[in-house]
Amino acid sequence: ATKDIRKAQQPVTEEVAHVLRTLGVPDSSWRNGTRPVRSPITGEVVAHAAEASARDVAHAVDRSIAAFEAWRTVPAPRRGELVRLLGEELRAHKAELGRLVTLEAGKIVSEGLGEVQEMIDICDFAVGLSRQLYGLTIASERPGHRMMESWHPVGPVGIITAFNFPVAVWSWNAALALVCGDSVLWKPSEKTPLTALAVQALFERAAVAFGGAPEGLSQLLVGGAEVGAALTDDTRVPVISATGSTRMGRIVGERVARRFGRSILELGGNNAAIVCPSADLDLALRGIAFAAMGTAGQRCTTLRRLIVNEGVYETLIPRLARAYGSVGIGDPREAGTLIGPLIDATAYEGMQKALAEARAAGARIHGGERVLAAEWPDAYYVRPALVEIDSQIDIVKHETFAPILYVLRCAGLPEAIKLHNAVPQGLSSSIFTNDLREAETFLSAEGSDCGIANVNIGPSGAEIGGAFGGEKETGGGRESGSDAWKAYMRRATNTINYSRALPLAQGVSFDI
Ligand code: NAD
Repeated sequence: ATKDIRKAQQPVTEEVAHVLRTLGVPDSSWRNGTRPVRSPITGEVVAHAAEASARDVAHAVDRSIAAFEAWRTVPAPRRGELVRLLGEELRAHKAELGRLVTLEAGKIVSEGLGEVQEMIDICDFAVGLSRQLYGLTIASERPGHRMMESWHPVGPVGIITAFNFPVAVWSWNAALALVCGDSVLWKPSEKTPLTALAVQALFERAAVAFGGAPEGLSQLLVGGAEVGAALTDDTRVPVISATGSTRMGRIVGERVARRFGRSILELGGNNAAIVCPSADLDLALRGIAFAAMGTAGQRCTTLRRLIVNEGVYETLIPRLARAYGSVGIGDPREAGTLIGPLIDATAYEGMQKALAEARAAGARIHGGERVLAAEWPDAYYVRPALVEIDSQIDIVKHETFAPILYVLRCAGLPEAIKLHNAVPQGLSSSIFTNDLREAETFLSAEGSDCGIANVNIGPSGAEIGGAFGGEKETGGGRESGSDAWKAYMRRATNTINYSRALPLAQGVSFDI
């Protein structure tokens, strides 16, 4: 171990138990269940979560429908009050919940806290939204008629989430769905059920403070893919919002479509940044380092491909390689750690397999090796890998959920944009340039084909105010800000005749 490697100071299991109890999570839900839960910090089993069965899912949907039928008639601004109280609980318990994110998902302290801050922010957004669920009035072609559009609650919303944002993704969906008048059912990642249990406890406190929230308005279904599948297949759940791998989204999307449900799919990314000759390289270096190495490369928006103009390649890449060689890796609870662990052994194996393929194709690889294996044989810490590669071979087009940044050289912006868009995923993207023409071209119809396109910022670290999501194999869903709320409601077009005549549209006559 070198000086940039940080070891654990405190035991993990005791801390997990302490935080869960502080947050009011009942022991029965995490002490003697069937699902072992590991902390990626040491790899030790820290809890055994109680799991739901497929029959429990059906029962939960019954309760969710009853809750929905009551909740949909509560005025939206009053529904907003419940979400405001949820935000208050989150504010009051930000430190503990953020800590639990660190313990269960391995995020560094500021990112664990940042995830809870994102929950608070979306609650605030949703509270404001609860007074702005607006439709349109539309000019009618008929005299004495008025047309309008109304938005109504749609029903129970199923939320399936990934391990890497164990709590924020639920809140993006739930805060909006609740103000929209829906009930929610949450199937968290089987790798991170403890943070979900903690959020459920906080929701229940908010519901008590609210007074009169229907029972079963927000329910938690801990379990694996089979629990997610039972939710996906239930025809009584009109909307399924699923966040995770493209492999999962292909299954869930098809199954929901088969029963004419609506899915919101937030799947894998393969995000790139283009560095142009006019770029501010100091700023670019910082933006790239955070986007590529932060969260140990386990964000859907992690920077995975860097497309560098040949004019600045030799200046930028050696500096980046130095940053890769000196970044603090280790226990995410320690000050100075920037890179925590990978989630598990499978993630580590996937990373090594990708690096072997790149190496076989002649890539020059900086880093990528395992560290701290002697101290914690069951935890997987790696030095992030910077991979200089000549062409965009298959492995570069694949999302490997680990800190690997492929670096490609390009001659000019048209070539850079072509390389940029030549992958199956379409989540997030960015360009570093001080040239207005280049920036605007990148944001234009012939530029980035992603759902998120940034200038002089890396692709990761979105704010909740914008719609979040991506194109192509990323699934096409949009969540969080802007008008993403519309996906949690049903639209009705209304035509009202306030005349005494009955003119038909398109001049059709039908006189009886
Ligand atoms: P995963 O696909 O393994 O699991 C995600 C969730 O889907 C889990 O809750 C899992 O139990 C459930 N699931 C798996 N198979 C299912 C099935 N057949 N039916 C119903 N549910 C099923 O993903 P992961 O490893 O937890 O997370 C990493 C992935 O998530 C990466 O690909 C990442 O890019 C993606 N992600 C995307 C976004 C986004 O907003 N686009 C955000 C976070 C993560």
